[in-house]
Amino acid sequence: MIITLEPDAPESQIDGVVRLAARYPGVSTRTFTFQGEASLISEVHLIGSTAAVPTEPFEALPGVRRVVRVSKKYRLIGRHGPGTETHEFEYNGVRFDGRRLHIFAGLCAVDTRDHVAQTMAALEKAGIQTTRMGVYKPRTSPYDFQGLGKACLPWVFELAGKHGIRVIAMEVTDARHIDEIREALEKSGEPTGVMLQIGTRNTQNFELLKHVGQQRRFPVLFKRGMGISLEESLNACEYVASEGNANIVFCLRGVKTHLGDPHRNLVDYAHVPVVRRQTRLPVCIDPSHAVGRMDRAPDGLPDIFHVVGQGLIAGASMVLIDIHPRPELALCDGPQALHVDELPRFVRYAEMVRGAYEDIVREFGQPGA
Ligand code: PEP
Ligand code: MN
Repeated sequence: MIITLEPDAPESQIDGVVRLAARYPGVSTRTFTFQGEASLISEVHLIGSTAAVPTEPFEALPGVRRVVRVSKKYRLIGRHGPGTETHEFEYNGVRFDGRRLHIFAGLCAVDTRDHVAQTMAALEKAGIQTTRMGVYKPRTSPYDFQGLGKACLPWVFELAGKHGIRVIAMEVTDARHIDEIREALEKSGEPTGVMLQIGTRNTQNFELLKHVGQQRRFPVLFKRGMGISLEESLNACEYVASEGNANIVFCLRGVKTHLGDPHRNLVDYAHVPVVRRQTRLPVCIDPSHAVGRMDRAPDGLPDIFHVVGQGLIAGASMVLIDIHPRPELALCDGPQALHVDELPRFVRYAEMVRGAYEDIVREFGQPGA
């Protein structure tokens, strides 16, 4: 059962809910607060034998806005009925609320300092403060480039700070990577921030998920598993929240099947509204790993643009996209990288589609949802 309090509820009202819950045997509580744009939202979650706990006494308490019985599934990330707030959070000055668009454009894998510098300069020029930089690369073959690892973190963070980058999406494949990132950020004076990315190969690496969930310093970009159902991916995502960190963006990146050929994966952006309905998380799309190539349609637009359009028109609010100053030299996924010179065009395109989505919702939907 989730008891949501009125915005900015005082501590005494939260305590009132917790005290009432303590009267029911076998029930424990956990309090969650998250900062909305204008107010602090608090929720008290009743855990354990809640089936026999009535809702009315809680509804009658001062400051209680809503009491909802939740199924066990997606207890924390789930959107339990209409009116549930999207889980909003702010990290390093960037707000993730499902209402504003974020473009995380950058290198699939950090290769040279010069390429990082050129990429970040292009981002700064395009007015973008968010990027992706792969440092720990999970590769299909052990003989492929595995990423530069912690050695490159100092100069990646330094360059990010220089170019005004506030958040870097960075995949971690092992708990010790979180410590390496934390230490490197501290040593370099915190010039930027990091969003920990869980890649599709680790969607069900439950021990790693527990580690990213146990720390609250870094938010999490959680990718769906490429060969499992959406339900399994969402259950895995719940692991992160259940350990204490609900600052999560859920990312669709396509699913593995040859039925999507010639694309690398079958684009699954029909699931954008499903994830938005079933969970309260902002939704990201990754067109680069979904499409996997830079082919263009007869209208001149790359397939990657077209699928970004599909995801944004369906309500996604974040795009993770590979760009590179010299795609032909990239050590990982060069064929799917957009040239940095095309970034301004891409940004304009994405903003146009997002604007069209907002117009459509204003006319046909429920604004503010
Ligand atoms: C990536 O974003 O670099 C990546 C490896 O993606 P995925 O986990 O979706 O394959
Ligand atoms: Mn890649």
